[in-house]
Amino acid sequence: MKSYIYNKLATDDLKQLCQRPKMDFTSVFGQVEPIIQGIAEEGDNGINHFSAKFDGVTPDPLVIDPQNQDIRLNDDIRKAIDTAFNNIYEFHKAQLPSQLEVETMPGVQCKRIARPIERVGLYIPGGTAILPSTLMMLGIPAMLAGCSTIVVATPPQQDGTVADEIIYIAQKIGATHLLKAGGAQAVAGMALGTESVPKVDKIFGPGNQYVTAAKMILQNSEAQIAIDMPAGPSEVLVIADETTNPVFVAADLLSQAEHGADSQVVLAATKGFDLETCQRQLDQQLAELPRKEVARKAIEKSFSIVTESLGEAVSFSNAYAPEHLIIQAKQPNQLVEDIMNAGSIFLGPWTPESAGDYASGTNHTLPTYGYARMYSGVSVDSFIKQITVQQISKEGLQNVGPTVEKLADLEQLQAHKNAVSIRLADINK
Ligand code: NAD
Repeated sequence: MKSYIYNKLATDDLKQLCQRPKMDFTSVFGQVEPIIQGIAEEGDNGINHFSAKFDGVTPDPLVIDPQNQDIRLNDDIRKAIDTAFNNIYEFHKAQLPSQLEVETMPGVQCKRIARPIERVGLYIPGGTAILPSTLMMLGIPAMLAGCSTIVVATPPQQDGTVADEIIYIAQKIGATHLLKAGGAQAVAGMALGTESVPKVDKIFGPGNQYVTAAKMILQNSEAQIAIDMPAGPSEVLVIADETTNPVFVAADLLSQAEHGADSQVVLAATKGFDLETCQRQLDQQLAELPRKEVARKAIEKSFSIVTESLGEAVSFSNAYAPEHLIIQAKQPNQLVEDIMNAGSIFLGPWTPESAGDYASGTNHTLPTYGYARMYSGVSVDSFIKQITVQQISKEGLQNVGPTVEKLADLEQLQAHKNAVSIRLADINK
């Protein structure tokens, strides 16, 4: 892992270190557009065509009701899913919005009421491994928000089925449809609707470049869908000082690095941190990993930055805006006060990122690629629209009306002014 000294870096160098690898979607867009077109024209047949082409399988039926499926799960797996599910449920249930009501002037009542996005699509990647945790992270807030149509899409296994773990969670979250398809064809199916896939209003979930490209194209199309957030490779930044255990830091960096060769792994440590032991541990722990080739590539591209103080480490972290931020330094709670940009923060020596990835209760669908500067991770809010409501009494209109008339005048919108003036005249007659 390359190492830099923070205060020897020029502003441009720091800026460069905060850059993520460039994502070039130009060629992927060219591959994905015909797939979307195919689904728009052929519906279910189009999905089947591309599933046969890319996954070598055409499940029959393409869409099932997950609630009617018999599944078999080993007790240990069921227990682990149930425990994680309960924690995620508890944390997200507390996010349900309460009603907001304000009288801005006497007789002028303003309210905000929450309503679920009625139809949502949850994409659960499955090209290389099944990801039940992702279904919990998306499905639990969807269920709590009250979404009435929940379509889960995931690539089928070679025999055309979907893993029982996925079906079990789909049942628990009250999913209404399980679309056995992956890639751009699944995203397009949900965005456009087909004979057996209901059209949805918002699509959530990570995926490979074809999935991401399809979400990007469709959100700017006549399909009129929203997406959760822009997606890039997963990333972690660890802040450490002289009190930090370098063995833990190495383990945390590797847990991110094994996601993919393009994962971003950064260490911002004060000069008292034992970087040498950390480096040795990285090599040792890496050698034992089944995914060592993937993790090695990510680590080779990663770096550490050595600072004079924790304040400098925090400044760098704020500029980098990591998806995951682990603070393993003295008094981590105090440092949180100064954190401006991060998807999710993990405090102290006993809080590995993996806990949040799976089971502590927070959501693992988080902004990457520096988008933590302006996006939040997925939460119940992501599945809700806020509608404003107002009611003005006679007295209220007498209070606010003249202001509206004056501003309408200023903007030369006579009809706006009239809608008030006619009523005020009626009140005063
Ligand atoms: P995937 O489900 O995203 O994609 C698999 C689908 O891609 C297949 O069903 C296939 O139809 C389609 N496909 C394959 N080759 C294609 C081609 N040449 N042209 C068009 N479509 C093609 O599964 P994956 O491929 O295993 O990727 C999972 C992705 O999800 C990874 O990039 C991983 O980093 C990401 N991920 C991110 C997070 C996160 O929270 N950030 C979590 C889990 C996974």
